[in-house]
Amino acid sequence: MDHPLSCECKGIQGHVRPGAVASRVLCYCKDCQAFARFLQVEDTVLNVQGGTHIVQLAASRVFFSQGKEHLAVVRLSEHGLLRWYASCCNTPIGNTLPTSQLPFIGLVDNILNQAAIPKDFPGKTAVVHTQSAIGQPKPEAHGLSGTMWRFLRIVAKARMSGAYKRSPFFTDEGKPVATPKVLTDEQRESLKQAPRSSR
Ligand SMILES: [Zn+2]
Ligand SMILES: [Zn+2]
Repeated sequence: MDHPLSCECKGIQGHVRPGAVASRVLCYCKDCQAFARFLQVEDTVLNVQGGTHIVQLAASRVFFSQGKEHLAVVRLSEHGLLRWYASCCNTPIGNTLPTSQLPFIGLVDNILNQAAIPKDFPGKTAVVHTQSAIGQPKPEAHGLSGTMWRFLRIVAKARMSGAYKRSPFFTDEGKPVATPKVLTDEQRESLKQAPRSSR
């Protein structure tokens, strides 16, 4: 069954097609934290230790039926990932590599139907970059090698099938569908350092 996706205000709507391989990841890296702070949604996106829940899958499985004009994208640095979000309400959408040749997206779970995630994307959640988690004790990291292995399978399959040409985040010429806003070093560092607002 298709898995629905929509931003907070429902300006963007769409779905994820069923498919074989996906990885659920809980990422504590500073860049994911900075992305949530950039959008000022850290209270709804990050867990108490700064973790973001992500579902990684082939970008060709993602379809937008409405609101594509609200797609916006930021790069924390000149060479950083493309971090997509809904400009209508600042809901994070997910992270892609800067090229359409590696057709992979890590969807932030706020754009998904959170209750249906375990059913639609089964498997254990890998926990990564725990050294950047906020506070002590740090969560225990596990599952990274499985995540890397699935990443390779997803990319290889999309390359062989030609599905990489069907990413909704890139034009047929391989350009991002929105112009990335690139943060300055200063902006990035201040977002990485930003203290967590209290709940
Ligand atoms: Zn919205
Ligand atoms: Zn991360």
